[in-house]
Amino acid sequence: MRRTGQTLIFDADDTLWENNVFFERVIDDFLDWAAHPTLDRVQIRQILNDIERANAVTHGYGSRVFLRNLHETFERLQERPASLDERERIDRLADRLVRGEVDLIPGVADTLAELASRHELFLLTKGDPEEQQRKIDASGLSSWFRKAHIVREKDAEVYRRLARESGFAVDRTWMIGNSPKSDIGPARAAGMGAVFIPHEHTWVLEFAELDPSDAGVLTLQRFTELVDHF
Ligand SMILES: [Mg+2]
Repeated sequence: MRRTGQTLIFDADDTLWENNVFFERVIDDFLDWAAHPTLDRVQIRQILNDIERANAVTHGYGSRVFLRNLHETFERLQERPASLDERERIDRLADRLVRGEVDLIPGVADTLAELASRHELFLLTKGDPEEQQRKIDASGLSSWFRKAHIVREKDAEVYRRLARESGFAVDRTWMIGNSPKSDIGPARAAGMGAVFIPHEHTWVLEFAELDPSDAGVLTLQRFTELVDHF
């Protein structure tokens, strides 16, 4: 059942290592602190989601944009600029995001080592280039990848360009990730196969409808199951 000699492209955040759960914890703390007289947590969270969606288009992804989103949400709730104290308070909430520790998902290191003996592995992640590179370095995984690509957005054109410039045969290339919107959908649109490994803490902005009858998408429950298929 194993395919041989494939090109495997890996997403990083919430596929190789934990990511969104740390943002979720900061958001929980923010919601505890930013209590509002008329809006409940769900409503405040919706305002934050709207601001995140808008800022992702103009400012991309990463901790710095996230911090900006929290500040904007606070000011929209209060309908006034934040005081210096309040600004510092928000910055402190997000302190732990910029420490750059990397918490690998169980089995990732051994699985990549085995896959690298049979296939060519690449990394494709979006976000702040400096921040993503810091995580790649801290992960200790970079030697398994022929190349790591950090891009601003992961849309179908990015996958097509990557295939073109790297000379990938798309019928032997697979994108592996947790995001329907950034990993599975656009890789399929570019003619690649896709391996969907859902993560319970996937960011709401990464959701998208997938075609359940699409035979080009393999869904696995755990990263370690990759060695049964590749
Ligand atoms: Mg991801």
